[in-house]
Amino acid sequence: MDTSSRLALKLDIVVIGAGQAGLSSAYHLKQLGLQPGRDFLVLDRAPQPGGAWQYRWPSLTLSTVNRVHDLPGLSFADNAGGDASVRASVAVPHYFAAYEERFGLDVHRPASVNVVCNRGERLRVESDRGLFSARGIINATGTWEKPFIPDYPGRESFTGRQLHTQQFHAAEDFAGQHVLVVGGGISAIQLLDQISQVTRTTWVTRTPPRFREGPFDQEAGRAAVKLVEDRVRAGLSPNSVVSVTGLPLSPAILAMRERGVLQRQDMFSEITPTGVRWADGRSLDVDVILWCTGFRSALDHLAPLQLREESGGITMTGRLATQVARDPRVHLVGYGPSASTIGANRAGAAAARALTAFLELPAS
Ligand SMILES: Cc1cc2nc3c(=O)[nH]c(=O)nc-3n(C[C@H](O)[C@H](O)[C@H](O)COP(=O)(O)OP(=O)(O)OC[C@H]3O[C@@H](n4cnc5c(N)ncnc54)[C@H](O)[C@@H]3O)c2cc1C
Repeated sequence: MDTSSRLALKLDIVVIGAGQAGLSSAYHLKQLGLQPGRDFLVLDRAPQPGGAWQYRWPSLTLSTVNRVHDLPGLSFADNAGGDASVRASVAVPHYFAAYEERFGLDVHRPASVNVVCNRGERLRVESDRGLFSARGIINATGTWEKPFIPDYPGRESFTGRQLHTQQFHAAEDFAGQHVLVVGGGISAIQLLDQISQVTRTTWVTRTPPRFREGPFDQEAGRAAVKLVEDRVRAGLSPNSVVSVTGLPLSPAILAMRERGVLQRQDMFSEITPTGVRWADGRSLDVDVILWCTGFRSALDHLAPLQLREESGGITMTGRLATQVARDPRVHLVGYGPSASTIGANRAGAAAARALTAFLELPAS
């Protein structure tokens, strides 16, 4: 689409993404007196409300999610979250739809932002639903659209099926097959639990899993977030959530131990046409390799702004580390320390306040 000649709609702020992070940011911009459509606009690539929750696998229900925290101003439990057996991919979109309606956030979707680039004082936001010229942006594009699969020799040669957590649908899809589950995070454990009840599994991780005894209280939560925040303030890429929180020794995990499913193996060194091989020469034939190897932040559209350090990370600053040090017009919400529903809530408030102050917008 030739965009150079077309006029861009001028706004103060564009919010990219309408998951927990984007909706929280939009809510707080509105609380500060900014009007959707006049002062700011929310652009969301997803076909319907719900952020990435709309794509989650059916067996992820409200009883198996960690916890979906309320968005500011509206109770999840009162608006979809009452029945624990409901799929998260149904309950959360329902809640987000009610939320957008209730607070009149006027999200534009589906609208994919393809490029954000500099235009002097302003930022040019090119999307498949038009051009926008903003004085600042709040990026809230999550991670779901950037599944990460590490490169191993021979990966292309594997004749069996390979998929990432993002493509998982149901354990029954693997009946009668030998599934190799790769990864040590919360999703890896959840999927290993489900698949091992249907068929044969083998579990490999880079490092031994760190199981955590006792409740994950607020203190532990704050400490975990601080670790990630320190990394992004230093311009390092945020590491995985589980690397700072550890894995909760839940009843499900204790039951997996009982069943002998948690016999973890070290990472293999290469992939063969029929399976994997370790450096010591051992090999294993499998039918499926399931990469539960996490996600990266979906930030490709911001590349022209050159926000990254040589380390590959982005140096963050400001309250709750939402502001990009290299370009204070840009805030990342749902990135690094705020990559959780509660983190997204808090970061949305911090980003809205900081950006409106930086742009000297009159706040009510
Ligand atoms: C399996 C799984 C389970 C989880 N369980 C929990 C849990 O129980 N509790 C918890 O707190 N957290 C959980 N998380 C983390 C959770 O993803 C985050 O907490 C939070 O929901 C992320 O919200 P977000 O708004 O940052 O991202 P998303 O929900 O991913 O929303 C981003 C939105 O941006 C849109 N978008 C992306 N790129 C563009 C673009 N270029 N242009 C326009 N729009 C774009 C997407 O379409 C999407 O609608 C889980 C994550 C996973 C993967």
